[in-house]
Amino acid sequence: MSLPRETVLKELGLWPRWQLKQRAAAPAQQEGRAQIIARMDWDELTHAILQCTACPLHLTRTQAVPGVGDRNADWLVVGEAPGAEEDAKGEPFVGQAGRLLDAMLAAIDLARGENVYIANVLKCRPPGNRNPAPEEVAACLPYLMRQIELLRPKITFAVGRFAAQALLDTDEPIGRLRGRVHRYHGIPVVVSYHPAYLLRNPADKAKAWEDLCLARRVAAEARPAASPGP
Ligand code: SF4
Repeated sequence: MSLPRETVLKELGLWPRWQLKQRAAAPAQQEGRAQIIARMDWDELTHAILQCTACPLHLTRTQAVPGVGDRNADWLVVGEAPGAEEDAKGEPFVGQAGRLLDAMLAAIDLARGENVYIANVLKCRPPGNRNPAPEEVAACLPYLMRQIELLRPKITFAVGRFAAQALLDTDEPIGRLRGRVHRYHGIPVVVSYHPAYLLRNPADKAKAWEDLCLARRVAAEARPAASPGP
């Protein structure tokens, strides 16, 4: 019977140095991976996401959820991560929160799949819908970055604190982020509440409507977005 790897490494005097070396190598590996992702086309990107094992979330997912919609859309909606229903169906924003998002879009004459692309920051479901860990976000963010670069939307509508903070690389609360126009690599970003939050706090739907109207105004005024830089 073979000995556990940790025991063998200890015997060889390589533990925990081997571990440290592995950790030190990780950022460089991440960087190389991000550069590969940054050159992918839509189909390669979708395939890479569906096969991805870059963070531990692949162990607990049913399937990865790359995103859905029009690949030439002016609008990109970005949420946090798949929930149970999204994990089962392989599509972002399904269930009650998804229906509310569809209703919000319909209120400004948009429809899922028509001039709208919908994606999450994280492509795999965190178990029990826990908050994503920073290393999971770091591993997954290159996919969203590439989606944005391929799409070059006129407006990115970030729903929920987590999506807004990850995209804008900030820890400002959502109350301070909404109501103004941010930029992500030159692309306008408007922040609003997550539909799941609005289901629990219907009084804030009026604010979400203001955010949608702001995003619609920005999209209408926007020229085609410049290609994002590094
Ligand atoms: S969450 Fe993202 S980085 Fe992690 S396994 Fe899924 S696709 Fe890969």
